[in-house]
Amino acid sequence: MKNTEQMQMIPKIELGIVIDHIPAGQGIKIMEIISKAEDMKDVALSLGLNYESQKLGRKDLIKLQMEYLSPEIIQQISIVVPGVTIKAIKNFKVHSKVVVQSPKEIRNLLECKNPNCITNSEKHVETHFTALEENCKRVRCEYCERVFDLKELHALVD
Ligand SMILES: [Zn+2]
Repeated sequence: MKNTEQMQMIPKIELGIVIDHIPAGQGIKIMEIISKAEDMKDVALSLGLNYESQKLGRKDLIKLQMEYLSPEIIQQISIVVPGVTIKAIKNFKVHSKVVVQSPKEIRNLLECKNPNCITNSEKHVETHFTALEENCKRVRCEYCERVFDLKELHALVD
C-alpha cells in the first residue's frame, strides 16, 4: 500500500459507488439529485464534507452502498457538478472509474419552458438541449431554439 493510501481518512468499502473529487460545498447538490431519485430510496449513503484533496484543496465525497448508478443520475450529476470522478468499488478495489464531463447535448432530461414548444404539445417528442458554453450554464432547445439558463429548467419527471 502506498503512503498516500494509508493517509486517507476515508475508510475503504468492500462494494459500492464512490463519487469523488466533488469541489467542497457541491456535495449537497449531488445529494439533492440522489434524494429525488425513486430507485435510490433504500440505498445507504454517506456524505463526507471538506476532506483534504491534492487536486482541489478541499473536496466533498459521497459513498453509496449499491452496485451501479443509473445513467440518468450520472447525466444529472454531469450537468450540475461536472468533473467529479465516479468509482465502482469491488472487493475494496477500484473496479472502474469515470470522470464525468458536462455534456454537449442533453436529451430527454429537461423540460422546455416554452409552452409553444413541440416537446410540450407532443409528449412523445424527446427534449433535446445543446450546451452553449463549456460549463453547460446556458442551453438551447433544439426544437424551438429558445435559450435558457440551466437553473431555470426543471427535470422531466417519469
Ligand atoms: Zn423548446
